[in-house]
Amino acid sequence: MSQITSAYNYVYNSNSCLSLQIIQILADIIDAKDRYSKGHSTRVAEYAHEIAKRYGYTDEKLSKIYTTSLLHDLGKIGIPDSIINKKNKLSSEEFKLVKSHTIIGSHILGKIKVVSDFATVARYHHERFDGTGYPDGLKGTNIPEIARIISVADAYDAMTSNRSYRDALPQKYVRFEIANGKGKQFDPVFAEIMLQMIDEDKTFRMREMLEKPFADFESMDFSMSFLMSACPELALSLKVSEREVEGSNIPFSVLVDFGKCMPSGFFVYKARGKEELLYANDIVFKIFGCQNIDEFKGLTGYTFPGMVYEQDLERIELSIIEQIESNEYNLDYVEYRIRRKDGKIRWIDDCGRLVNTVEHGSVFYVLIHDTTEQHISRETLTNVDHLTNVFNRKHFDVNIHKDIADIVNHGGRLCMVMIDIDKFKDFNDLYGHLVGDKCLAQVAQAMQNALRRKSDMLFRYGGEEFALLLPGTLLEDAAKLAERLRLAVRKLEIPHEHGPCGIVTVSAGVGMLTSEDASSFENPHVELIKLADQALYKAKDLGRDTVQTQSV
Ligand code: GH3
Ligand code: MG
Ligand code: MG
Repeated sequence: MSQITSAYNYVYNSNSCLSLQIIQILADIIDAKDRYSKGHSTRVAEYAHEIAKRYGYTDEKLSKIYTTSLLHDLGKIGIPDSIINKKNKLSSEEFKLVKSHTIIGSHILGKIKVVSDFATVARYHHERFDGTGYPDGLKGTNIPEIARIISVADAYDAMTSNRSYRDALPQKYVRFEIANGKGKQFDPVFAEIMLQMIDEDKTFRMREMLEKPFADFESMDFSMSFLMSACPELALSLKVSEREVEGSNIPFSVLVDFGKCMPSGFFVYKARGKEELLYANDIVFKIFGCQNIDEFKGLTGYTFPGMVYEQDLERIELSIIEQIESNEYNLDYVEYRIRRKDGKIRWIDDCGRLVNTVEHGSVFYVLIHDTTEQHISRETLTNVDHLTNVFNRKHFDVNIHKDIADIVNHGGRLCMVMIDIDKFKDFNDLYGHLVGDKCLAQVAQAMQNALRRKSDMLFRYGGEEFALLLPGTLLEDAAKLAERLRLAVRKLEIPHEHGPCGIVTVSAGVGMLTSEDASSFENPHVELIKLADQALYKAKDLGRDTVQTQSV
């Protein structure tokens, strides 16, 4: 494990030399995106450092301003090269994109928890002292001091280096601009220090220092693969962000989500031969509902197939094989279900990179996110429960209100049947959740097929509970229908050792509201559910596998 975790840990050790080198390399990657700004990040760091030193910063603060300045433009990694290198004037849309590098950078750098200044600098280095800057329009000393310093340094370098749209400006002009921006664009104190520095730089040589970047990469991919072995989590997120950005019209929300709203689970496992998990972070455990790596091992056996919910395994394996054949081992998102330790199903998405390491040979770096919430909202849109194919709970909530409004306005009655599978917890314990899921789907389909009127709607109310809404139906007729569903389930003859009679059965409770009842209650839908529930409890009390009724 040492190869991967030790390099990884270096990054979070703020004193380590490796971490500074990685920051420096990142800065060069940023600058490499812009053909004309080689060394920009380093020069800004140097200028900011000098301004801060003259202002009286301690050594510790100086080293902080230096390293954070190096990454002030990190968000540019999310802006398409074509826009960054554009010679002509940017359209307002394009300018908006460019401006968003402050937000992107701060979200990515927000991941560095030990030093929050990285994110601060990325976000605020384009604020202006008079409050007209971006992204937040902060004013005066509300702008973090470190960002006010870097803003002066950044502007100086922007004017004194060749840009895609123009050559470097004469020193006299640069001096004028800085002096003119005092109190407007710049904090007057730091602008004044910069003016001093300009005045001392009689031969206009300051701008030539460090023209050569720390490292000169032939291609992004090389630097990415280096980063990947040094700091995989960050590298993966950058790579993914870049891909998202170039392939989509609304890239930034994706990126921002990626960085901020979805904590990344991250794990590494051996790619060839016997699959073996080498490393997993806490977020992976959280997603799987495990306390630690041993529990995780118990749950998944440490293998990839052990992590994927069985019903999704074939699909996932096919997709992975397909991608490996066409895509040289860079796996795009695949989305699949997992079974948590508590038995609950969660959706995750997953993207991975194959990397060669000295110690372990080929390994897969994998990032995962819990996407269950998105799935739930997607399901809500379709009204259908994906497991059982009957209507979902959300649709039930909509319909019960609609049906009750109907009887209140037009008279008549509304029956509700609540159906619950008997001893289903035992069923899962006996045969496993997978068989349990299959059973749920079969029971739902059997009941659905037993319905004859289109207006009778079957819903998955929750877990192993189903509900029927039967507008215009008498209590006895509703009970008869419920009885038909009960028999339809029995007819499946799914073995259940602990079931009331050796097979899977259901109990049902039927409740009814008349229009008068509905008008007399403040929350008639709550009352109706309560009635059906009470009837269901009676059925359970009577030994299960039966139907009971309850009216007001
Ligand atoms: P009773 O006869 O009193 O209803 O007993 P029961 O075990 O069915 O009742 P309980 O409400 O205690 O347990 C319901 C069980 O249903 C718990 C849970 O394991 C299972 N369950 C809920 N949702 C799902 C699901 O989506 N898949 C599977 N396989 N099981 C589920
Ligand atoms: Mg139940
Ligand atoms: Mg039950």
